[in-house]
Amino acid sequence: MKQIVRLDDCLKCRECCRFYKGYQHLAPIIEKEGKYSMILCKEKRGSYYICPYFKKNICIVEKNKPFDCKIYPFNIMVNREGAIVLAYDRSCKGLKGKTKKEIEKYADYLIKYIKKMGILKNKFYVEPFQKELTIVRNL
Ligand code: SF4
Repeated sequence: MKQIVRLDDCLKCRECCRFYKGYQHLAPIIEKEGKYSMILCKEKRGSYYICPYFKKNICIVEKNKPFDCKIYPFNIMVNREGAIVLAYDRSCKGLKGKTKKEIEKYADYLIKYIKKMGILKNKFYVEPFQKELTIVRNL
């Protein structure tokens, strides 16, 4: 699947793949033999917990990284009313220079992919409402 943030840009950034205390529930979901579970981020570094697959500033499972990671900075979540929406994190540096049109075009691509792959059948992928994210489409 296509990703909106170039890998080079991802590797330059030191913000992702870590989850601040109290936000570990936003860690990605991994699938193994049809079973889904959240990646456990136990290693504490400063004020955050780091993904166990994040080593020397790279993702060691890059080619097979979880769906949540592939679509980042997009996110499937519920809105304030409980409806499922597609949202994105405007603060992601990988979006720098991207126009609103490019972001919306990628959102439309992602929606088609999500529907085609039946991603929403698995409620694990639907995260709680996060006020920091910008809603771009209903799902
Ligand atoms: S699986 Fe890879 S991309 Fe996803 S949070 Fe962990 S280190 Fe980052």
